[in-house]
Amino acid sequence: MHEYSVVSSLMDLCETHAKKHNATKIEKVVVSIGERCGMDKQLFMSAFETFKEELDICKEAVLDIVDEKVELECLDCKKTCTPPNLEYGVCTHCGSQSVRLIKGTQMQLLSLEMV
Ligand SMILES: [Zn+2]
Repeated sequence: MHEYSVVSSLMDLCETHAKKHNATKIEKVVVSIGERCGMDKQLFMSAFETFKEELDICKEAVLDIVDEKVELECLDCKKTCTPPNLEYGVCTHCGSQSVRLIKGTQMQLLSLEMV
């Protein structure tokens, strides 16, 4: 499953960070999940629970998920906007349809609390 591979690489990232800071334990992992990244939050959480058991340093870690709203950038008026509904294809400033998603499509590691 998609969620499992994402969480797996997230764990690698956590471990790398922990090693770099000589931490012995990760207490909290904060990630943001984009509205449109196609990830199931429940699955993501259960994948996290599974993986953290395999990693000594993460065993007691708590997962905190922040929702990331979709944000669009208009290629015509160069402004950014947050679509008010599920209409992701139109600029709310000028009505142009030349927009691209700049936020809300990814999972990102925001912060780690370690000791
Ligand atoms: Zn526009």
